[in-house]
Amino acid sequence: MSEEDKAQRSKEKHRARMQEQKAKVDERIAQAQEERGILIVITGNGKGKSTSGFGTVARAVGHSMRAAVVQFVKGTWPCGERDLLQKCGVPFHVMGTGFTWETQDKDTDIKAAKEAWEQAKIWLADPNIDLVLLDEITYMLSFKYLDLEEVLQTLASRPKDQSVIVTGRACHRAITDMADTVSEVKPLKHAFDNGIKAQKGIDW
Ligand code: ATP
Ligand code: MG
Repeated sequence: MSEEDKAQRSKEKHRARMQEQKAKVDERIAQAQEERGILIVITGNGKGKSTSGFGTVARAVGHSMRAAVVQFVKGTWPCGERDLLQKCGVPFHVMGTGFTWETQDKDTDIKAAKEAWEQAKIWLADPNIDLVLLDEITYMLSFKYLDLEEVLQTLASRPKDQSVIVTGRACHRAITDMADTVSEVKPLKHAFDNGIKAQKGIDW
């Protein structure tokens, strides 16, 4: 067989493979007909959980959809995505207890977590909100600051078209079981492990 024939045959094989793949994808697209909000969990020890959550909020806002964010973080440090999205009209509730390692106070943390959750519940019952990001809520469940059953119940009874994103390490199994999409971010490398400082615009 000439080189030309070989090249032609390879092209044809490639085209046939692509057509077969396209047929499979088209079939799956045709089967996915249900329309409703979904529960997404982004968990794991690698970097990219919150950035994924905020990226999706930006995506929704870009479509003029309404999103709301609750940040279950103890610190009150600056955060580029918050500054940007608030300018776009996205309401935020930041738990921020002004936490430092020296002034750990469990009661204050529990009170702040419950307050943040009260706000989350309002948004999780509001059909006008298309997307709710519950950033770092997994820790509130690990520490038992929030009642798991109540969180599950609230997620289950949210408006049909509303999507929710949960981020944080070690997400409780009951939440991942309920979720429609679960991604685990796996750390293969992190700059910090090589002594590189966390930086503005990359880490916050
Ligand atoms: P990001 O906000 O960058 O998406 P994340 O939400 O996946 O990170 P968190 O544990 O919430 O992860 O991150 C808090 C901070 O710790 C971020 O500044 C992040 O860059 C950093 N970080 C995330 N994963 C790691 C890691 N494996 N080692 C060291 N630092 C990390
Ligand atoms: Mg995070």
